[in-house]
Amino acid sequence: MRSVSSGSICALLLACATMILAGCAAKFEPASWAERPNIVLIFADDHAWQAISAYSPRLIETPNIDRLAKEGTLFRNCYVPNSICGPSRAAVLTGKYSHANGFYRNGNQFDGGQWTFPKALQVAGYETALIGKWHLGEHMAPQGFDYSCTLIGQGPYYNPAMLLDEDGDGKREEISITGYTTDVVTDLTLDWFENRKESGKPFLAMTQHKAPHRPWMPALRHLDEFEDETVPEPETLFDDYEGRPRATRLQDMTIAHTMVKRDLKLEEMPDLNEEQRAQWNAVYGPRNEAFLAANLEGDDLVRWKYQRYIKDYLRCIRAMDENVGRILDYLDETGLAENTIVIYSSDQGFFLGEHGWFDKRWMYEESMKTPLLVRWPGHTKPGSVSEDLVSVLDFAATFCDVAGTTVGEGGHGRSLVPVLDGRAPEDWRDVFYYHYYEYPGWHAVRKHYGVADGRYKLMYFYELDMREWHLVDLEADPQELRNFYDDPAYAEVQARLHEALDEARAELGVPELDPLESFPADDPFKPREREPARRKTLGVF
Ligand code: CA
Repeated sequence: MRSVSSGSICALLLACATMILAGCAAKFEPASWAERPNIVLIFADDHAWQAISAYSPRLIETPNIDRLAKEGTLFRNCYVPNSICGPSRAAVLTGKYSHANGFYRNGNQFDGGQWTFPKALQVAGYETALIGKWHLGEHMAPQGFDYSCTLIGQGPYYNPAMLLDEDGDGKREEISITGYTTDVVTDLTLDWFENRKESGKPFLAMTQHKAPHRPWMPALRHLDEFEDETVPEPETLFDDYEGRPRATRLQDMTIAHTMVKRDLKLEEMPDLNEEQRAQWNAVYGPRNEAFLAANLEGDDLVRWKYQRYIKDYLRCIRAMDENVGRILDYLDETGLAENTIVIYSSDQGFFLGEHGWFDKRWMYEESMKTPLLVRWPGHTKPGSVSEDLVSVLDFAATFCDVAGTTVGEGGHGRSLVPVLDGRAPEDWRDVFYYHYYEYPGWHAVRKHYGVADGRYKLMYFYELDMREWHLVDLEADPQELRNFYDDPAYAEVQARLHEALDEARAELGVPELDPLESFPADDPFKPREREPARRKTLGVF
């Protein structure tokens, strides 16, 4: 037997102790197990950061959401890894990129058997609830929740049917609730706060809204808001996509050509009951008659569509902001606010007419960047702004850190706790990897991946018939209208970003070949060529 001297054992113990201490130094230590903070995640669907006044006062005032910025931290660079609803939600739950959690595009079914942070928090002694939008498939009940009440699929704006699993046993009953869905989701959240069965436990509440997703149906109480004003148009409403990759022209997501009658409220709207429909039609009926009588064409018609779209979108935000206020008020009134982390975020950003677009998907600023505002009394400095590159991928690691538990193997996110304390670690990420896969699919946005470092972006549209690069410099060109790829002045930046991209893909284990079906070079999904049939079936106006 090999003998070990007492001196080397001491050195070994010392080394272990140092390692443990070093490991603990970065971890959050609550005063006691019972005093771990509650977590309230208010998660919107398609809420553009441009429509939050704490980010930009141009379009709307959102005093309640802004409270989180005033009393906490606003993140200017929160990125999503794949800017589309289902994949972003899967990334939140698992802390992993699409290629690692298996959810690449809408319509995939989430593998609920894998590690998720709500399961980990439940094991760590949190009481957990999911209320509102799930959108990861109805094939199985959401796992890791003591209570869930979820919208089915995308969910409606009015009178939602919901799947209720009151005790988290996986058996669900369908219930139907009358009301405006943004209000309903908040009502259910407040009820859950009131009725929590085990009030001694810290809790996790995920309040996930349908709004402001397409088709942007406002609450009846907001139908007159903004009507007498002209909302400012984005400078790029009539973008010609000159000088940029072909993918920007081949999309099918313009306000001018893609919006259907339902988007524009020019047909009978779904889901309203008789009383609601009467009120709705009393407002939109005369407006629509005036529009039809005006017989608008060309740019005037696009401008009208933009106004109809943006006003309805902002009205949806109005209800969202009010409902954030209801949650914050409840936390204040019950004294819970002091030990509760409140997060407001969205599954991704959204185009509000920039480049002539609505929808998301692209690695451009409006859609890759999502709002993130966090208030954690005693940690986030009131009124602070962070420029650190953070992501919804970091939520899982953050919540596990707060709950004193560990993330599952192979996670790609990092705990934001030190960032929330205002001191990002020195080795915090300096580039972020992005990858969009949903093609062919809605809106015909071509597959692409790339890296962003806060100023520069390198994107690659990698399909066989594409193979085009886009190099962005946000400082020189904040609206991303130019392509600096192969510009000699950017040779050094380009080389550096290529290296960062290769490194990121290797480090994250992104498969060399896209695992989804490749698309043939001869593209049968050209939107312009199938335009007449499409206009007929979808009611494009
Ligand atoms: Ca979404």
